Amino acid sequence: MRIGHGYDVHRFAEGRELILGGVNIPYQMGLDGHSDADVAVHALMDALLGAAALGDIGLHFPPGDPEYKGISSLKLLGKVRGLLDKNGYKIGNADITIVAQQPKMLPHIPAMRANIAEVLCTDIKNISIKATTEEGLGFTGACLGIAAHAVALIEEKSNLRFL
Ligand code: MG
Repeated sequence: MRIGHGYDVHRFAEGRELILGGVNIPYQMGLDGHSDADVAVHALMDALLGAAALGDIGLHFPPGDPEYKGISSLKLLGKVRGLLDKNGYKIGNADITIVAQQPKMLPHIPAMRANIAEVLCTDIKNISIKATTEEGLGFTGACLGIAAHAVALIEEKSNLRFL
């Protein structure tokens, strides 16, 4: 078993949709970025890549590459799953924390978990998503952007043969 950690931040921008965990959340601003700026999925991808020591999402999906302009981060997550598979790893579980003052995340968390579990071909019980505010402090508290942290466990598929 191996563990990885991921962290990402995107700033709010006018005229963008707010996509988190693949869910389009109604809000007056979205997150700025080259892809759909799904900060929760970005943190998760970095945790999964980190667990496998396969670099980070900037390495695999360079910002500025026209192929990834406006792309759904769930598609990129599917590519990360493929990379793990190719390198002999399967997903164990993941835990994501979204740090945002606004909007309320709770109503959207079941759909986010379902989206991510589907792309990773794992049970929804293996995908945890939590949300917190920073009590009005810092850049998330000032509603300048959203941060996300993720940790993930992966397992070497070859070990499963001996269980
Ligand atoms: Mg990002």
